[in-house]
Amino acid sequence: MSDQEDFKRTITYGESALSYIRRNTLPAYPRNYELWYTYSAGFNHGLNRAINDIITVKGGINGDDLQKIYAKFLSPNRLGDRIDEVGAKVAEEVQDLVDAIRVSTDATADYGEALETASEKLKDLADPEKLRAVVAHMIKSTHAAVAANRNLESQLLESRRQIETLQENLEAIRYESLTDDLTTLNNRRHFDMMIEKAIRSAADSGEPFALLLTDIDHFKKFNDTYGHQTGDQVLRLVALAVKQNVKGQDCACRYGGEEFAIILPNTGIAAASEIAESIRKAVYSKELVKRSTGENLGRITMSIGVSEYRSGDTSQTVIARADLALYAAKHEGRNRVKCESDTGVVDDTRVA
Ligand code: GH3
Ligand code: MG
Ligand code: MG
Repeated sequence: MSDQEDFKRTITYGESALSYIRRNTLPAYPRNYELWYTYSAGFNHGLNRAINDIITVKGGINGDDLQKIYAKFLSPNRLGDRIDEVGAKVAEEVQDLVDAIRVSTDATADYGEALETASEKLKDLADPEKLRAVVAHMIKSTHAAVAANRNLESQLLESRRQIETLQENLEAIRYESLTDDLTTLNNRRHFDMMIEKAIRSAADSGEPFALLLTDIDHFKKFNDTYGHQTGDQVLRLVALAVKQNVKGQDCACRYGGEEFAIILPNTGIAAASEIAESIRKAVYSKELVKRSTGENLGRITMSIGVSEYRSGDTSQTVIARADLALYAAKHEGRNRVKCESDTGVVDDTRVA
């Protein structure tokens, strides 16, 4: 049944991708197909927005535009390429600075030499003409040195501006590389980093942390009934409910398609399951209405598994226990929170 649904859905995306390729008379290269397939499936919002914007402005889209969009949104190297680009700009900026400092140093050395020559010549004070010439030369050299320093100063100022912009670029790349585009929660990569960090700091400090794993109930069916785009809106809504129920140090992440993971530092299992319960209730309390048509889509429920750090845990073991609890919540009928202690797994580290 579900294979059949996947078949139907993906064939629709594939056919739609081909029709876009035909309509824009583009070659049906795998890259173009990937791009239009992604567009048809609608889960890469930045990509869809970029394509729509170009079509709105230009009335169509050409191969060059698509290449840029591919590089920005789909190329597996996109972040690496941008980091390389920023790196190259930093190197260029530093080279310019080194050159400017060299020019200024040369000018200062010339000035020093001019002063020395002048001081030699000043020993012969008898001839006022010569004295005037020496003074005039010193004034000229001083002007040249001042101009060189002024140049260096303005170059330094410009460099500072450039470096600040580069810093902002790097910050934007960092944000993008750690953020999920659809929900603006932290992405899986960020989660992987943060859970390792949480394990390290719990092992060092002995402070506990808890982990929630959430999974939307029967979401496949929801997508099949109302469409992937509406499914995406629901994912955003659920992400918002998660965000509104966590705070400060808590780290809410999109773990997978319709699964979220929340790391709760300095939190024990009881407090964590209360937070899980408030997320579950927040999601369940919303009656979904499709804005464009007013159609009532009913309610979405989610199941949540909770685990707590134990001494000796690795990220895999603490995730596995939350996953097991989530599985138990699904098994018992969904729309509920289950703690690891409810799963019957013996916690031998705490047995007296
Ligand atoms: P269960 O209650 O057992 O969790 O049932 P389920 O249908 O939710 O099953 P499962 O968690 O295995 O299915 C995940 C489904 O979530 C598959 C896919 O249709 C949907 N999904 C995953 N990622 C996305 C996404 O980015 N957008 C949308 N709209 N749907 C997604
Ligand atoms: Mg799932
Ligand atoms: Mg699910």
